[in-house]
Amino acid sequence: MKSTPALLLVSTVLLSSPAWAETPNVVASIKPIHSLVASIMQGVGEPSLIVEGAASPHTYNMKPSNAAALQAAKVVFWVGPGLEIFLEKPLEALGSGARLVELSEAPGIEKLKFREGGVFEPHDDGDEHGEEGHGHGAEEASHEAHDADTHGAEAETAEHHHGHGEGEFDMHMWLDPMNAKAMAAEIGKTLAEADPANAATYQANLEKLNQRLDTLDKSLAETVAPIKDKPFVVFHDAYQYFEHRYKVRVGGSITVSPEVLPGAERLSEIHAKIEDLGATCVFAEPQFEPKLVNVVIEGTPAKSGTLDPEAATLESGPDLYFQLMENIGTSLKDCLSSAS
Ligand SMILES: [Zn+2]
Repeated sequence: MKSTPALLLVSTVLLSSPAWAETPNVVASIKPIHSLVASIMQGVGEPSLIVEGAASPHTYNMKPSNAAALQAAKVVFWVGPGLEIFLEKPLEALGSGARLVELSEAPGIEKLKFREGGVFEPHDDGDEHGEEGHGHGAEEASHEAHDADTHGAEAETAEHHHGHGEGEFDMHMWLDPMNAKAMAAEIGKTLAEADPANAATYQANLEKLNQRLDTLDKSLAETVAPIKDKPFVVFHDAYQYFEHRYKVRVGGSITVSPEVLPGAERLSEIHAKIEDLGATCVFAEPQFEPKLVNVVIEGTPAKSGTLDPEAATLESGPDLYFQLMENIGTSLKDCLSSAS
């Protein structure tokens, strides 16, 4: 059958149109990352998520269905070694089939050093902070000295070999919207390369996402402005990026990493810190034992609240990142403005 020019045109248009193009199989490790990817893939497809529900990335164990999803993936987005430890070996075994994107290495990401110990002194932003725009020079030294004195072997073993892997940097980078923008740019670029047929859609979605992130950044700064000088205590040390961006004051953390339960000495150190701080707030997290928070605030005027830095309680999807960040701002404001 002789193909007419019109028919040729229609088939070319059809075959190259997004609708026909095979949507790439994309996997994202944790909910905050999945949310950014889902935003950029809107109208094209949906990424699959590994750490679902209320599970914590720090204690997660791979399921056979996860391994199958990775095997079929064309692109895998994760934060990186030191956070999703459960992914390190499976990704090594994946071979070159899939494109693996470590978003902690995206251009423009600001990295903060992993913090030692349970009590943090307020850092004066005039200080020279060393690595990648921020480190903890003198403070770190004082913490290490403090740790060596008071915690000796316990601090050594517990904190350095569990949970956060052995990385140098705090891996909760998504808690700064400017880092989320850097991640979004890398996600958009990767998807456009992996799926050129939908590149225009990814680009348009990326622009919309960047506008939303700028708006979020402004509204968070307003939300926490009234309470930014009020120190508070958190469950695990996940909030440094939020703290750095909005100048709120994390006075200490009950544990460094959720699966390393704090020893009695650390709990008493935190209790002493809360007494020092006077009226303040101590924040639990949905995935972890709230009893510990009651232990450290007992007999002090401190109030308790809840923060959810890994979105354990939120529905996965494009809006999750915004709900996660707004919830942190609101929870801090609600508790600290009533802690007088
Ligand atoms: Zn964490």
